[in-house]
Amino acid sequence: MKFGGSSVADAGRIKAAAKRIVDRRAAGDEVVAVLSARGDTTDELLEMAEEISSAPDPREMDMLLSTGERISCALCAMAIRDLGYEAISLTGSQAGIVTDTSHTRARIVNVRAERIREALDEGQIVLVAGFQGVSIERDVTTLGRGGSDTTAVAVAAALDAEVCEIYTDVAGVFSADPRIVPDARKLGTVSFEEMLEMASSGAKVLQLRSVEYARTHGVRIHCRSSFDEGDGTIVVGEEDSMENPLITAVTHSVDEARITLIGVPDSPGVAGAVFGALADAGVNVDMIIQNEPESEGSKADMSFTVASEDLRDARSVLEGILEGQGIERIAWDEKMGKVSVVGAGMRSNPGVAATVFRTLGEQGINIEMISTSPIKISCVVSADRVADAVRTLHAAFALGEDQSDSEQPHGAAR
Ligand code: ASP
Ligand code: MG
Repeated sequence: MKFGGSSVADAGRIKAAAKRIVDRRAAGDEVVAVLSARGDTTDELLEMAEEISSAPDPREMDMLLSTGERISCALCAMAIRDLGYEAISLTGSQAGIVTDTSHTRARIVNVRAERIREALDEGQIVLVAGFQGVSIERDVTTLGRGGSDTTAVAVAAALDAEVCEIYTDVAGVFSADPRIVPDARKLGTVSFEEMLEMASSGAKVLQLRSVEYARTHGVRIHCRSSFDEGDGTIVVGEEDSMENPLITAVTHSVDEARITLIGVPDSPGVAGAVFGALADAGVNVDMIIQNEPESEGSKADMSFTVASEDLRDARSVLEGILEGQGIERIAWDEKMGKVSVVGAGMRSNPGVAATVFRTLGEQGINIEMISTSPIKISCVVSADRVADAVRTLHAAFALGEDQSDSEQPHGAAR
């Protein structure tokens, strides 16, 4: 059972989470709970570091950030004990979460779950601090924003758990963000492939890595509300996916920045050098567009998007290699957004891209970049048109509560 930050935000909610955990134990299940930091704690810790240093040391940053989750676990263990059950809280390190050495975005390399197993065998409820581990060089690491989801999935995999329940402040995974689209529908099931595309294109319910990890290790994820008992969304293998409509969801993000390299020499190896340098700095690049130079010997332009939070790193990396690569200059746009339609049924049905582009065109929304996968179409648009784009696409594909699947413009795929 994993509880997100809003589900442990104050004393009342920690007690409610403790009650929910205890009820599960009382029903005869063994329970490991992974907790996030309370409310805005992680943001506050980041701000504290910024107040001290403009470039905080990454190792110390992880020492700092990992405290938020420890607080939640210790408090919840107290609450569980007051309810008359045995409980023990563990840091990521104590829980055996072993990671690589990349501070603030470490990857789990191994889970040595013996200590959790022993505690369960003694009848304890085990609370594991999310979002953290210990590196192969014995330093505390954190797993990147939203990383408690990955802790939960990794622990579930290591223990061969029946299910990994992700408790959050929404009822499950929706066909679009309900704050933007009031009639967005809660999805009963969603396939790993779709969930991966959704998480990578802005859906915030699950951290992308947690979905990758769950798919690799075959962990069943149930994403549900911590505020009510209702079923949420189950992430399943595509073969078990019951609903397989053309389009499953419209996702979006307003945290995109576009970088354009102007005057890029048209010679082999330049793109490799540019993206190699970005990769070495840990910057994830999303869409890439390169235009052909007009004539032999003239120069090309290259545009790509990165997460807004990576813009500063990306610029400094690129500024360091411009001259050496003979690139004329760099430009950037901080306020870009992205809207994506995702659906496994797209794979075998033509016309989805045409519908997306026509729908956006009719709203006067300009598409600046496009990228596709077999089950996703993404368009970069200006950040201030993202909400309009989401609403109009959700309606165009009839994804809402009162629009049944059969009304989808191309019919259901299977
Ligand atoms: N507390 C961390 C964050 O805000 C990890 C998490 O909540 O999953 O990113
Ligand atoms: Mg989260």
